[in-house]
Amino acid sequence: MSASFYQPDTVTCNGEQFKIFINRQQIDERISQLGEQLDKDFADKKPIFIGILNGAFIFLADIMRHVSIPCEVDFMKLSSYGDEKVSSGQVTELKHIDAKIEGRHVILVEDIIDTGLSMNYMVKRMKEENPASVSVCSLLHKKEATKFDVQIDYVGFEIPNAFVLGYGLDYAQEGRNLSQIYVIDKEND
Ligand code: 5GP
Repeated sequence: MSASFYQPDTVTCNGEQFKIFINRQQIDERISQLGEQLDKDFADKKPIFIGILNGAFIFLADIMRHVSIPCEVDFMKLSSYGDEKVSSGQVTELKHIDAKIEGRHVILVEDIIDTGLSMNYMVKRMKEENPASVSVCSLLHKKEATKFDVQIDYVGFEIPNAFVLGYGLDYAQEGRNLSQIYVIDKEND
């Protein structure tokens, strides 16, 4: 027997307290809806999902398994947060995709869009390689915090401007293995 998913109600990560924000059932239901939508929108288009590492790896793995059309996957690695809770304001490309995307339908998959800096960069970067289309799919979106111009085609949840953790999202590299999404608990600061 393998251990069950790691999903406490509250968690301490690097000395900060977090409480449950979006639970497994809510995540599963929403991802299943997004998968259905992608199946319809990309039927006969054989899209390539490009996950933005590290944060998107769990969302990408789940959403791809809710899609039944032929599709491919590749990864890009960016860094903008370092180990802090606020963005450094700079995007560094740590790994580029290996796939050739000219003429392909690209779906960029991100864990969260905050200021929009990373996704704004990613969309421009992809377009340089002349894909047939570029779509953006993000599990979370902090609408109030978004300053850069980004068209988000598929969003799991619109959330307020608070720091979240789990389901791929880290705090100083820890907490990605939590299977639900948690929010920083200000009452316990
Ligand atoms: P943006 O470039 O949109 O400002 O930020 C995008 C990246 O910042 C995300 O891919 C994610 O790595 C990180 N990020 C933004 N907000 C949060 C948050 O609330 N929690 C965590 N763990 N990372 C975040």
